[in-house]
Amino acid sequence: MSSADLPSYLVDKGLGPWEIYLEQIARVTPHLGKLARWADSLRYPKRILVVDVPIALDDGTIAHFEGYRVQHSIARGPGKGGIRYHPSVSLSEVMALSAWMTIKNAAVNVPYGGAKGGVRVDPKQLSLAELERLTRRYASEIHMLIGPDKDIPAPDMNTNEQIMAWIMDTYSMNEGRTSTGVVTGKPIQLGGSLGRREATGRGVVVTAMEAAKRRGLALKDVRVVIQGFGNVGQAAAHIFQEQGAKVIAIQDSSASLYHPNGIDTNALAEHTQENGKSIAGYPLAQTLSKDDFFALDCDILIPAALENQITVDNAARIKAKIVVEGANGPTTPAADDILRERGTTVVPDVLANAGGVIVSYFEWVQDFSSFFWSEDEINARMQRIMSAAFAAIWQLAEERRITMRTATFIIACTRVLEAMELRGLYP
Ligand code: NAD
Repeated sequence: MSSADLPSYLVDKGLGPWEIYLEQIARVTPHLGKLARWADSLRYPKRILVVDVPIALDDGTIAHFEGYRVQHSIARGPGKGGIRYHPSVSLSEVMALSAWMTIKNAAVNVPYGGAKGGVRVDPKQLSLAELERLTRRYASEIHMLIGPDKDIPAPDMNTNEQIMAWIMDTYSMNEGRTSTGVVTGKPIQLGGSLGRREATGRGVVVTAMEAAKRRGLALKDVRVVIQGFGNVGQAAAHIFQEQGAKVIAIQDSSASLYHPNGIDTNALAEHTQENGKSIAGYPLAQTLSKDDFFALDCDILIPAALENQITVDNAARIKAKIVVEGANGPTTPAADDILRERGTTVVPDVLANAGGVIVSYFEWVQDFSSFFWSEDEINARMQRIMSAAFAAIWQLAEERRITMRTATFIIACTRVLEAMELRGLYP
């Protein structure tokens, strides 16, 4: 099926994330054997909810924000995926992110489908009270879709533990009982899990280490470049540094910093706390242009900010031997081809950033049993799942001489489509 045959709301103009996802499905379909007859199911999100989120601003005016919750698939279990607050969030972006959750959850074999939510808002323009009202109203608007055994949101860009606490409370108030398992990424005091905050960044480092080992690099010698110094990028930066790697460059939306001997990630984190979360103005590194940042001589490049960052415009200049996709959808398919030709190992987002959803899964399980595990146990279990998934994907990629992305999609799509075939079509 070409994108010309799709319903109009499923077609992106230009190369948006949804179109990138469709291209990835087109690439995996020839590898699916008899299951390929189900493959079109992966192109149709199961459910899409678009909501108006009106709130009273502090000055008394009424503002309206557009919100979404998309359940791409619930074939293998309840929907699972984060909520993003960003001024450029769009329905097609949330659709793509929900579809990547389906693939990710299946790739690491956690018993979830895929979902995602978003509100088109710049949260930096809102006061804390406005942010709470927005969150509670959005949670009420999507109440009909979410629930511990239906669809479990979590944090994504610009959402955090406090926002998850407000969603948990709003859902619980509407249900008339406390329901901790409705969201993950909650504060520890409300049934959150130890290790969840750093889990995505930690998983990025686990997969980077697995890739480095197979490319003959010792982690203590590697030079790492990271785009994004938020939840994912910052946690990964600290853990890389702890493991003895050198983080030589970091970029966020305010600046690109470089130091050939390594940037002290703790000192930079302290600087961002006093500087409105921005890395700009950090005195102990030099500033680079955005273009020079991606072309830096390094071993591992981690895009951990947003989509569409590695494109045909910069892929040929990337010198990293390994790209580990902390962000969702940072590499376009055309750029992927360029990296493959250059011999760059790309650890795809649907594997590399799965640490967060794995520990979210642990959080959900702990909430159901009200029995909480130690942080060491959580990190060890997460690492085991990530390393086993990496090994299976690497082996398939080697055997068939395909990219890790295609191998991940083969394993994940096979699991989703087998579940669909076993369940059969209702009625
Ligand atoms: P975040 O909001 O905590 O941090 C985002 C970072 O990206 C910030 O440092 C910001 O300054 C930077 N950034 C934004 N625009 C930029 C630009 N134009 N150029 C350079 N840097 C820019 O978000 P996060 O939770 O760390 O998520 C980052 C990515 O990882 C997203 O793609 C998200 O979907 C993905 N992800 C997050 C999680 C999670 O657990 N938080 C899990 C899986 C995937």
